[in-house]
Amino acid sequence: MIPLALERPGAVKLGALPPLALYVHIPWCVRKCPYCDFNSHERAGELPERKYLDALFRDLEGSLPNIWGRRVVSVFIGGGTPSLFSPESIDALLSGVRARLALEPGAEITLEANPGTVEAARFRGFRGAGVNRISIGVQSFDERMLAALGRIHSGGEAQRAVEAALASFENVNVDLMYGLPGQTAAMARADLEQALGSGVPHVSAYQLTIEPNTVFWSKPPRLPEHDAAADMQLAAEETLRAAGYEHYETSAFARAGRRCRHNLNYWQFGDYLGIGAGAHGKISFADRVTRHARAKQPDEYLKADAKLEEHAVPAADLPFEFMLNALRLVEGFDVELFSQRTGLPISTVQARLSELESKGLIERDWKRIRPTEPGRHFLNELLEAFLPDRRARAPASG
Ligand code: SF4
Repeated sequence: MIPLALERPGAVKLGALPPLALYVHIPWCVRKCPYCDFNSHERAGELPERKYLDALFRDLEGSLPNIWGRRVVSVFIGGGTPSLFSPESIDALLSGVRARLALEPGAEITLEANPGTVEAARFRGFRGAGVNRISIGVQSFDERMLAALGRIHSGGEAQRAVEAALASFENVNVDLMYGLPGQTAAMARADLEQALGSGVPHVSAYQLTIEPNTVFWSKPPRLPEHDAAADMQLAAEETLRAAGYEHYETSAFARAGRRCRHNLNYWQFGDYLGIGAGAHGKISFADRVTRHARAKQPDEYLKADAKLEEHAVPAADLPFEFMLNALRLVEGFDVELFSQRTGLPISTVQARLSELESKGLIERDWKRIRPTEPGRHFLNELLEAFLPDRRARAPASG
């Protein structure tokens, strides 16, 4: 394989800064799901909502010098389970954000909600607070699957949550999982059909993967064979396409005009400020791209002197980071976007692109580069090609 090395490591030059989004992390859940490796923490009793809002505003204010004068294109309140926060707290959060940051008119503002923590009045309250998109963690409507996943809600509650969300919001996403313990193709199809029957304009379908530091990692459940899970994925793609949903990212499907703008900004390697416990972010400057991370433990984050880690992404890592996101997009990306976002010429990755094209994993013309269908299904192999060559970056000895 041809090593990926930069002619002039460190030579990052951005002509313009990318769009900027805001991610707000709410780290608590009623119960930790056995497959979950997100920064989510079980919390019995009342949440310290006011104290947490104060910490978020402190965090935001501390970051303002890095994003001075920039407008925010979207806000995503994720978790954890943000719908555990009261509509009044979400209202105070969004008012506080607007007082400190300029939001684009009509900015998409998403809130993640879990069935079992929401009812119609709560959704109306979130709408009144300025949220205009809801993402519901349904995962499955099947009681057996929900029990296997350790979810706190029933299939009936999931259905009612979707209906209640649609009564207050036009823009609703349902998260589903497939490849679940004991799941058959018919069961996966039934989940999808129930979601489509509700009329939601956006569906995200993820395969269950077993991640380190989870209960499933230490006590792995019996999952469907690899081929069976791959068939479920293909069946889901076909069903959603036939129902008029555009497949625009590995796991995301939307009706026309309902693609998630916030996530698209990630996949197009845009900037995002992440605030909240364990939140990550990426901020670009004219001569560098930086990443930052907040203290993970909520109690630690609540302290006034909570730690913040920041580093500039080495130039040799930027092609991989860009591709890790952009090659998830079914339609790929404009050739120019690579230089606009990484500050590196496309010639940096030309040899890799030719190699992948000859293997049939990508296709390209003068304007766009996109993964082929085999490329999408062997995404890891595709991405590995852009891993920085560490030897090329090692300091010369002697
Ligand atoms: S509800 Fe979501 S964030 Fe919370 S533990 Fe379960 S999977 Fe993780």
